[in-house]
Amino acid sequence: MHKPFFHTSIISAANGGAGLLLFVVLLVTVGCKVSNNPLRKTLRSLQNGSTTDDTSYVYRLPYDSNTSHLVVQGYFSPYSHNDRAAIDFKMKRGTRVLAARSGVVIKTKSDGTRGGTKMKYRADGNHIIIQHGNEARSSYWHLETNGVKVNVGDTVQEGQFIGLSGKTGYALFPHLHFSVSRNDGSKGSWMQTGCRFRTSKGIVYLRPFRRYSL
Ligand SMILES: [Zn+2]
Repeated sequence: MHKPFFHTSIISAANGGAGLLLFVVLLVTVGCKVSNNPLRKTLRSLQNGSTTDDTSYVYRLPYDSNTSHLVVQGYFSPYSHNDRAAIDFKMKRGTRVLAARSGVVIKTKSDGTRGGTKMKYRADGNHIIIQHGNEARSSYWHLETNGVKVNVGDTVQEGQFIGLSGKTGYALFPHLHFSVSRNDGSKGSWMQTGCRFRTSKGIVYLRPFRRYSL
């Protein structure tokens, strides 16, 4: 089912280093465990443009406008996003991470030093969570040790420099894990969801193994 991705991914891996190559091998061998989450289907139809009545917020790509980054895992990708509506941008350590939307910083962790694919590293992931009104939150994970450049309570503007990317926490190679959660209103619980981005290719839902710039 995911075969069409593999060919392109292997080409991308060729200039992406050993970690990414290993990731591709894992993708091929991990099988096609597909999530039952109904959001998976919804996001597929948004990605391919068959859902057009979309008024959701358009986010800014979380990096500098003169750069582009490869999406190595997308929504419900079959490696570690099996059941996650999140995006992984391949990023060298120390890359500037910018706020994808204005808001208030509600949580940070900056003292994690370890990273890798052992479950015990999960708690080491440095991160920033920004709240956007009552409606949404965006999260930025695997940041460099001491790579968080904002404090809880800070108001940040869309496009503002907030931290440096890294490989802390559960990560096979350096990348930025980005996700948006929405409050479902009824229970006050936060659910991961997809989001649109403004890109040089127009306003789109990002797809794996494509490179995006502003
Ligand atoms: Zn991820």
